[in-house]
Amino acid sequence: MASEALRRAWHNRCPNCGEGALFQSRLKMAESCAVCGFDLSVLDAGDGPASLLVLFYGALIVPLAFWVESLFAPPLWMQAVFWGAVMLVLTLKTLRPIKALMIGWQFRHFDADKRFF
Ligand SMILES: [Zn+2]
Repeated sequence: MASEALRRAWHNRCPNCGEGALFQSRLKMAESCAVCGFDLSVLDAGDGPASLLVLFYGALIVPLAFWVESLFAPPLWMQAVFWGAVMLVLTLKTLRPIKALMIGWQFRHFDADKRFF
């Protein structure tokens, strides 16, 4: 049951029924499920997905930038543009799935009184 909610959210489906869409646009969640009517507004990942990705990609990209600097010593502006673009693309590609997983994780701990944990 718990992993089922995560699987449903990962596939952009309502974690309650697995049928309705979780997102109404690229990153904006639907207010409620169109199929089962579950109030999705009680589930909110907040800044969690973005914070997690900044920490993860920062820990990955900073050592790579130092490694490139030690090997090729490119101009600093080139490093900033290149790694900035890499960070932007990676974040935009993975923000939605990470947000969906966090929503699924919240649903796993959801209770009817709208208190978590
Ligand atoms: Zn639903």
